[in-house]
Amino acid sequence: MTEIETSKEPIKASEIDPKFKYELSRMHGGEKLLKCFQCGTCTSDCPVARFSDTYRPRTIIRMAQLGLKDRVLNSETLWLCAACFTCTDRCPQGVEVASVIRVLRNLAAEKGIVPQVFKDQAASILDSGYAYKIPELRINKRESQGLPPLPKGKPDNIRKALKGVKFIENTQKGGEQA
Ligand code: SF4
Ligand code: SF4
Repeated sequence: MTEIETSKEPIKASEIDPKFKYELSRMHGGEKLLKCFQCGTCTSDCPVARFSDTYRPRTIIRMAQLGLKDRVLNSETLWLCAACFTCTDRCPQGVEVASVIRVLRNLAAEKGIVPQVFKDQAASILDSGYAYKIPELRINKRESQGLPPLPKGKPDNIRKALKGVKFIENTQKGGEQA
Protein backbone atom coordinates (compact mmCIF):
# COMPACT_ATOMS: atom_id res chain seq x y z
CA MET A 1 0.00 0.00 0.00
CA THR A 2 1.22 3.48 -0.78
CA GLU A 3 0.54 7.09 0.04
CA ILE A 4 -1.47 8.94 -2.56
CA GLU A 5 1.58 11.16 -3.21
CA THR A 6 2.54 8.41 -5.65
CA SER A 7 -0.06 10.18 -7.82
CA LYS A 8 2.64 12.82 -8.33
CA GLU A 9 5.00 10.31 -9.87
CA PRO A 10 5.09 10.41 -13.65
CA ILE A 11 2.35 8.31 -15.18
CA LYS A 12 3.44 5.51 -17.49
CA ALA A 13 1.13 4.65 -20.36
CA SER A 14 1.32 1.00 -19.33
CA GLU A 15 -0.39 1.88 -16.03
CA ILE A 16 -3.52 3.22 -17.65
CA ASP A 17 -6.54 1.01 -17.88
CA PRO A 18 -8.81 2.88 -20.30
CA LYS A 19 -11.81 0.74 -19.42
CA PHE A 20 -11.62 1.40 -15.68
CA LYS A 21 -13.68 4.60 -15.68
CA TYR A 22 -16.46 2.86 -17.61
CA GLU A 23 -16.31 -0.10 -15.25
CA LEU A 24 -16.74 2.30 -12.31
CA SER A 25 -19.50 4.24 -14.07
CA ARG A 26 -21.57 1.06 -14.33
CA MET A 27 -21.38 0.46 -10.60
CA HIS A 28 -23.93 1.75 -8.14
CA GLY A 29 -22.68 5.14 -6.92
CA GLY A 30 -20.13 5.55 -9.71
CA GLU A 31 -22.58 6.61 -12.42
CA LYS A 32 -21.56 10.30 -12.45
CA LEU A 33 -17.79 9.78 -12.24
CA LEU A 34 -17.16 11.11 -15.74
CA LYS A 35 -18.91 14.39 -14.93
CA CYS A 36 -16.17 15.55 -12.55
CA PHE A 37 -14.51 18.69 -13.91
CA GLN A 38 -11.95 18.93 -11.09
CA CYS A 39 -13.30 22.05 -9.38
CA GLY A 40 -11.92 20.91 -6.02
CA THR A 41 -15.06 21.57 -3.97
CA CYS A 42 -14.99 18.03 -2.60
CA THR A 43 -11.45 18.47 -1.30
CA SER A 44 -11.97 21.95 0.09
CA ASP A 45 -15.05 20.86 2.06
CA CYS A 46 -13.73 17.46 3.18
CA PRO A 47 -13.17 17.35 6.95
CA VAL A 48 -10.47 14.68 6.58
CA ALA A 49 -8.53 16.60 3.90
CA ARG A 50 -8.41 19.55 6.29
CA PHE A 51 -6.22 17.54 8.64
CA SER A 52 -4.20 15.59 6.09
CA ASP A 53 -1.45 16.59 3.70
CA THR A 54 -2.15 13.64 1.44
CA TYR A 55 -5.87 12.88 1.46
CA ARG A 56 -7.53 14.58 -1.50
CA PRO A 57 -10.86 13.20 -2.76
CA ARG A 58 -10.52 15.21 -5.96
CA THR A 59 -7.25 13.37 -6.67
CA ILE A 60 -8.89 10.01 -6.06
CA ILE A 61 -11.62 10.90 -8.54
CA ARG A 62 -9.06 12.05 -11.11
CA MET A 63 -6.98 8.91 -10.75
CA ALA A 64 -10.12 6.85 -11.27
CA GLN A 65 -11.04 8.88 -14.35
CA LEU A 66 -7.56 8.45 -15.78
CA GLY A 67 -7.69 4.70 -15.32
CA LEU A 68 -4.86 4.52 -12.80
CA LYS A 69 -6.44 1.45 -11.34
CA ASP A 70 -3.50 -0.09 -9.51
CA ARG A 71 -2.36 3.21 -8.04
CA VAL A 72 -5.74 4.14 -6.71
CA LEU A 73 -6.61 0.67 -5.39
CA ASN A 74 -3.27 0.44 -3.63
CA SER A 75 -3.50 3.89 -2.14
CA GLU A 76 -3.75 3.70 1.60
CA THR A 77 -5.37 7.12 1.79
CA LEU A 78 -8.45 5.60 0.13
CA TRP A 79 -9.21 4.25 3.59
CA LEU A 80 -9.14 7.61 5.32
CA CYS A 81 -12.57 8.65 4.04
CA ALA A 82 -14.99 8.98 6.94
CA ALA A 83 -18.03 8.51 4.66
CA CYS A 84 -19.61 11.75 5.89
CA PHE A 85 -20.98 12.49 2.39
CA THR A 86 -20.17 16.22 2.54
CA CYS A 87 -18.40 15.90 -0.82
CA THR A 88 -21.38 14.19 -2.39
CA ASP A 89 -23.76 16.84 -1.07
CA ARG A 90 -21.63 19.70 -2.36
CA CYS A 91 -20.36 18.47 -5.72
CA PRO A 92 -21.75 20.85 -8.37
CA GLN A 93 -21.67 18.05 -10.91
CA GLY A 94 -23.61 15.55 -8.82
CA VAL A 95 -20.63 13.18 -8.56
CA GLU A 96 -21.24 10.81 -5.66
CA VAL A 97 -17.68 11.14 -4.44
CA ALA A 98 -18.18 9.17 -1.22
CA SER A 99 -19.84 6.35 -3.17
CA VAL A 100 -17.03 6.26 -5.73
CA ILE A 101 -14.62 5.88 -2.83
CA ARG A 102 -16.77 3.06 -1.43
CA VAL A 103 -16.74 1.33 -4.81
CA LEU A 104 -12.95 1.69 -5.00
CA ARG A 105 -12.55 0.28 -1.50
CA ASN A 106 -14.73 -2.68 -2.38
CA LEU A 107 -12.65 -3.35 -5.50
CA ALA A 108 -9.47 -3.09 -3.42
CA ALA A 109 -10.95 -5.44 -0.81
CA GLU A 110 -11.81 -7.98 -3.54
CA LYS A 111 -8.08 -8.13 -4.21
CA GLY A 112 -7.39 -8.46 -0.51
CA ILE A 113 -5.95 -4.94 -0.38
CA VAL A 114 -7.20 -3.74 2.99
CA PRO A 115 -5.12 -1.95 5.63
CA GLN A 116 -3.99 -4.32 8.34
CA VAL A 117 -5.82 -2.33 11.02
CA PHE A 118 -9.20 -3.06 9.38
CA LYS A 119 -8.29 -6.72 8.84
CA ASP A 120 -7.46 -6.94 12.53
CA GLN A 121 -10.71 -5.25 13.52
CA ALA A 122 -12.78 -7.56 11.34
CA ALA A 123 -10.97 -10.61 12.72
CA SER A 124 -11.56 -9.38 16.25
CA ILE A 125 -15.29 -8.79 15.63
CA LEU A 126 -15.65 -12.30 14.20
CA ASP A 127 -13.64 -13.79 17.01
CA SER A 128 -14.88 -11.92 20.08
CA GLY A 129 -17.73 -9.62 19.06
CA TYR A 130 -15.54 -6.61 19.87
CA ALA A 131 -13.81 -4.41 17.31
CA TYR A 132 -10.87 -4.20 19.68
CA LYS A 133 -9.67 -6.92 22.00
CA ILE A 134 -9.90 -5.49 25.49
CA PRO A 135 -6.45 -5.90 27.10
CA GLU A 136 -6.29 -8.16 30.15
CA LEU A 137 -4.71 -5.27 32.04
CA ARG A 138 -7.81 -3.15 31.58
CA ILE A 139 -10.13 -5.97 32.57
CA ASN A 140 -8.10 -6.49 35.75
CA LYS A 141 -8.13 -2.76 36.45
CA ARG A 142 -11.92 -2.69 36.17
CA GLU A 143 -12.09 -5.52 38.66
CA SER A 144 -9.74 -3.75 41.06
CA GLN A 145 -11.90 -0.62 40.84
CA GLY A 146 -15.01 -2.63 41.66
CA LEU A 147 -16.53 -2.08 38.22
CA PRO A 148 -18.84 -4.74 36.78
CA PRO A 149 -17.42 -7.06 34.10
CA LEU A 150 -17.86 -5.96 30.49
CA PRO A 151 -20.77 -7.55 28.66
CA LYS A 152 -19.76 -10.68 26.75
CA GLY A 153 -19.64 -10.34 22.98
CA LYS A 154 -21.78 -12.67 20.90
CA PRO A 155 -19.43 -13.70 18.11
CA ASP A 156 -21.66 -16.62 17.02
CA ASN A 157 -24.55 -14.26 16.33
CA ILE A 158 -22.26 -11.79 14.62
CA ARG A 159 -20.72 -14.49 12.40
CA LYS A 160 -24.22 -15.63 11.46
CA ALA A 161 -25.34 -12.06 10.67
CA LEU A 162 -22.22 -11.36 8.61
CA LYS A 163 -22.22 -14.65 6.73
CA GLY A 164 -22.00 -13.89 3.02
CA VAL A 165 -20.96 -10.24 3.53
CA LYS A 166 -18.25 -10.11 0.92
CA PHE A 167 -16.35 -7.21 2.40
CA ILE A 168 -15.85 -9.05 5.68
CA GLU A 169 -14.80 -12.21 3.83
CA ASN A 170 -12.37 -10.14 1.78
CA THR A 171 -10.76 -8.66 4.87
CA GLN A 172 -9.72 -12.17 5.84
CA LYS A 173 -7.83 -12.74 2.56
CA GLY A 174 -4.15 -12.09 2.07
CA GLY A 175 -3.47 -8.99 -0.09
CA GLU A 176 -1.98 -9.02 -3.59
CA GLN A 177 0.00 -6.02 -2.52
CA ALA A 178 0.12 -4.39 0.90
S1 SF4 B 1 -16.64 18.56 -6.29
FE1 SF4 B 1 -17.34 17.19 -7.91
S2 SF4 B 1 -16.72 18.17 -9.84
FE2 SF4 B 1 -15.59 19.15 -8.18
S3 SF4 B 1 -13.64 18.00 -8.08
FE3 SF4 B 1 -15.02 17.04 -6.60
S4 SF4 B 1 -16.01 15.39 -7.73
FE4 SF4 B 1 -15.09 16.75 -9.23
S1 SF4 C 1 -17.23 11.39 2.44
FE1 SF4 C 1 -15.02 11.09 2.62
S2 SF4 C 1 -14.15 12.27 0.94
FE2 SF4 C 1 -16.24 12.96 1.22
S3 SF4 C 1 -16.10 14.75 2.53
FE3 SF4 C 1 -16.49 12.98 3.86
S4 SF4 C 1 -14.48 12.22 4.46
FE4 SF4 C 1 -14.17 13.60 2.72
